[in-house]
Amino acid sequence: MKTKDPQIISPGDHALVDQHIDNDAVDILRAIHSAGFKAYLVGGGVRDLLLGIQPKDFDIATNATPEEVRSLFRNSRIIGRRFRLVHVYFRRKIIEVATFRKGDNNVYGTVEEDALRRDFTINALYYDAESGEILDFFDGMQDLRNHMIRMIGAPMVRFEEDPVRMIRAIRMSAKLNLRIDKNISKALVSKKNLLLKVPSARLLDELIKCYYSGANLKLFALLQDFSVFGLLFPVYSDLQSELLGHSTHANLLKKAFIAADERVKQHKPLNLAFLFSILFWWPAQLNKDRFCSKKVREKAAFAMALDEIIAKQRSVISMPARLQNVIGEVSIMQYELLNMRKRSLERIVTKRFFRASYDLLLLRLESGEGNLQPVVDYWSAYKKD
Ligand code: ATP
Ligand code: MG
Repeated sequence: MKTKDPQIISPGDHALVDQHIDNDAVDILRAIHSAGFKAYLVGGGVRDLLLGIQPKDFDIATNATPEEVRSLFRNSRIIGRRFRLVHVYFRRKIIEVATFRKGDNNVYGTVEEDALRRDFTINALYYDAESGEILDFFDGMQDLRNHMIRMIGAPMVRFEEDPVRMIRAIRMSAKLNLRIDKNISKALVSKKNLLLKVPSARLLDELIKCYYSGANLKLFALLQDFSVFGLLFPVYSDLQSELLGHSTHANLLKKAFIAADERVKQHKPLNLAFLFSILFWWPAQLNKDRFCSKKVREKAAFAMALDEIIAKQRSVISMPARLQNVIGEVSIMQYELLNMRKRSLERIVTKRFFRASYDLLLLRLESGEGNLQPVVDYWSAYKKD
């Protein structure tokens, strides 16, 4: 694809004003500009504000080199080896300043080239705080008005370059209530297997962004619609027929997603291990029989089934040891909670993940698992908020 000249949207013709933007981001834009460089707010910061949504972070693009940016802000540091960026540090946030770059190489470029390498048209809107203008390179404003996610360039090619863009399209569609353009959907269907080539650490990062999107319910439904879910969570491909129409399992996931989305709304933290514990609960239940024997009791068999699932999962999404441990603790404690004896009480309620485990127990009850009411009643007296 060739670079394009942008449409220039004057201040009166769009709804973005400095007052909406984070003060520190505006200060950075001004300071870079005063030093004689160009600087724009770009990406999610512009897109979300135009949609009337509070952005998660503010990204800045400039023609100043990282060294030049670094020298302007005492509270900043150059990070990254392959492509270097500047992080400007504040008490509660980091603002990222990136030098215009060309393609996926580590070469600096012009603003036109910088726009071309971005994924979606709505992510290539550049706001100039000095003039109040927005540079719109690929009709992103029109796509925003139409609530549409459209790729810059050919989706097939852009997904081959970087398969993570597939998850980004799905995440943004769910989070921002945008429709996915049909060229993107088509390419997604044919290129989805490329996700398995993405380094597992990067998929973990992406999963975390999904979990914190506040739109899990919709997002996971979309991941399923596009058959990406079974790729990301291999046990779901293995148990496809067993899980299909399993209403208690479907309820458990649904209730957990709703609860997570509610927590994001209330700015409460989320526990990624809890998400995995929910996702793996029924798969491990369904698999545990294979491990049961005279010698191996149910709890131990469940633990083995869970280990097997985690081992396979790790080949797709990286799972740090700590994460695996917490999933194990939260899940296996389900069996200990059935043990309502005074003798074990102190040992159980003082466990680090007792609360998370109680929450899983409660969700299991609410999703329709039988016989758990007395257990929930018993432990609810000991849970702290
Ligand atoms: P949010 O921060 O809400 O998740 P965002 O669009 O700002 O959404 P970031 O990951 O912060 O996402 O990236 C900032 C910008 O960088 C994007 O808007 C996009 O222009 C560009 N970008 C990020 N990831 C990619 C990618 N994989 N391919 C092409 N461009 C990308
Ligand atoms: Mg962003």
